[in-house]
Amino acid sequence: MKRVAVLTSGGDAPGMNAAIRAVVRTAIYHRLEAIGVMRGFEGLIDGEFAPLNRSSVGGIIHRGGTILKTARSERFKTEDGLNRALYQLKNSGIDGLVVIGGDGSFRGAQNLHLKGFPVIGVPGTIDNDVAGTDETIGFDTAVNTALEAVKKLRDTASSHDRLFIVEVMGREAGFIALEVAVASGAEYVVVPELSFSLGRLCDKLHDTRSRGKTHSLIIVAEGAMSAADLKNKLQDTAGYDARITVLGYIQRGGSPTSFDAILASRMGSFAVESLLEGHKGMMIGTVAHQMTLSPLSASWQTRKILSPEKLELVEKLSI
Ligand code: ATP
Repeated sequence: MKRVAVLTSGGDAPGMNAAIRAVVRTAIYHRLEAIGVMRGFEGLIDGEFAPLNRSSVGGIIHRGGTILKTARSERFKTEDGLNRALYQLKNSGIDGLVVIGGDGSFRGAQNLHLKGFPVIGVPGTIDNDVAGTDETIGFDTAVNTALEAVKKLRDTASSHDRLFIVEVMGREAGFIALEVAVASGAEYVVVPELSFSLGRLCDKLHDTRSRGKTHSLIIVAEGAMSAADLKNKLQDTAGYDARITVLGYIQRGGSPTSFDAILASRMGSFAVESLLEGHKGMMIGTVAHQMTLSPLSASWQTRKILSPEKLELVEKLSI
């Protein structure tokens, strides 16, 4: 193996730059050439490649976003798009590819693998919804960003005796919502994985109020329900007057936490060394803090579950 390429795909996540840096520097350490692919699979199809040296990735470890840009590519889902991408890779003498993204990006990477091209996935998504790894790059930063905002809202909730509903990201998974709920001491969390019961929520609010607690905080994952819908339901059914905040895209940006910068550095480096050892069609993960390799397909074929222990904690600690 002489030349390794790297791309970022899907939604951007803090720590992607640290992962790119780790791929490039590890490649150079092992006397390989490193190539950056711009705009994910779109750039792969169009041959938007740029050689990267050690200084190209200098000063980016703490920068949010991705210097390689990211994109969603419908063309790459077609046979024609896939074949064009393979042609560009081979035409540029690239021997292996590291794909940094979520499980959608890994489906794309798997298609390259099935055509015989060596590819390794690095899980980079704020949602943490990738099976085969305890954490994905960007998740810890997103949780901390959301938590900072929630802590400020809690001050106001408590000063004004208010009920606050905070909507966080998570279209199909409630990992951010659950983590933020535990860390902020929220009274209730609504996640897409569990069916929602308005009756249970009202009972909970009624209980906490009857014990003298005058303010409450509910964290809702966007994929379960919007904060506005939940506010209306609470108003119509039980007359609760809630204030709502939608955190939105601020959760994607910013400098990675030390946890994410370290995770990204470990994963990016391990990806290159795995390619060198002849692994292909695999994704990098961390399980109980150890680096692991598992088939790319496991990332979407297995559903990662929310921690029952943490769900119970929200219930137990908000009495
Ligand atoms: P995130 O969830 O953080 O946004 P992701 O990687 O899951 O990250 P997606 O938009 O699902 O984001 O996928 C990124 C890209 O991967 C898609 O735009 C497409 O190019 C490619 N991709 C997704 N699914 C497939 C598929 N079934 N076959 C081929 N390529 C796919």
